[in-house]
Amino acid sequence: MSSTDDRSTTQPSSPLPGYLPSRNPILDRDRELFDRTLRSFVVPGAFDAHAHLYAMDHLQIDRADLTEEDGDIDRQTWAQITSWWMGDLAPRDGLFFGLPIPPVDIDANNDFVARAARQAGGSHGLMVVRPGDDAATVESRIRADGFRGIKVYHLFADRADPGNAAIEEFLPEWAWEIADRSGLWITLHIVRAHALADPANQKSIRDHCRRYRNANLVLAHAARGFCADHTIDGIPALAGLDNVYFDTSAITEPGALMAILKQFGPRRLLYGSDYPISAMRCRSTSVGDGFFWLHGDDPRWNDWTMGALTLSGIDSLLALRQAARLLDLNDTDVERIFVHNAKDLLRD
Ligand SMILES: [Zn+2]
Repeated sequence: MSSTDDRSTTQPSSPLPGYLPSRNPILDRDRELFDRTLRSFVVPGAFDAHAHLYAMDHLQIDRADLTEEDGDIDRQTWAQITSWWMGDLAPRDGLFFGLPIPPVDIDANNDFVARAARQAGGSHGLMVVRPGDDAATVESRIRADGFRGIKVYHLFADRADPGNAAIEEFLPEWAWEIADRSGLWITLHIVRAHALADPANQKSIRDHCRRYRNANLVLAHAARGFCADHTIDGIPALAGLDNVYFDTSAITEPGALMAILKQFGPRRLLYGSDYPISAMRCRSTSVGDGFFWLHGDDPRWNDWTMGALTLSGIDSLLALRQAARLLDLNDTDVERIFVHNAKDLLRD
């Protein structure tokens, strides 16, 4: 799939998986952009703290939509596709979890992730957990399969508008208790219109991080700072918490990353790619008091001469680089973000 032409992409007719290698070509200009701007910034041996793996069989997808390029999104594909634009700087290990979307066969996807994590010494997995799951079953499966923690997602909240779900609706108390008992990692993508600027989200994070001090909470996407102001406005509310962390995944503007670095320093931010989103030509953009996702298949890009949409994984690294430059981070700080913060959290 490492095509070098500019053939246009079309949306898959199936709603899932949203990413097919055959429809998301990586171009020479993506590689050139990475080499020119990011090769001197990305740390060798990076650890990817946020990557999704799944098999095509886990999806409710029309097989007619797939070409022979569209194999399982497994650990090998993660390494291969990421190396097509990062070259030898592609992350060596990662923290993997399934695709947390209700039509996906979550049990099979969890098994798939556990197997992938076992096959690679420095990589680990999180178990996708739903609020309706049985707590004892989840805890024994985490132990048996060697998961290092839990991934939750708002689409499993029992409501018609999951984008407005309170954290408690998809991260149940028993999941915190399990994480607290074994010092596990919880990756949480908060929602509601104002994300971290939402007082109910702030209170839930504060209360639970204080109650479950042995659990480590990782707020995905810079606390869903797709609108940078939400993280900038909300981050002071988390001051003093010593078990809250943030990943950089799919954040393509520096503001939210800078807010985290200013509030907490360089030990709480973890590089994450959000693979396979990182291999898609898209980006999130703050728009007023909200955000919008730009996609590469918008025909208006065809006539635009002042820039071209690149992979979200590249735009996200550019945002991290901007934040690091503007805050004068040193090499040790940047190494922490790419490698050591995640490994310390995993006690590797
Ligand atoms: Zn993700």
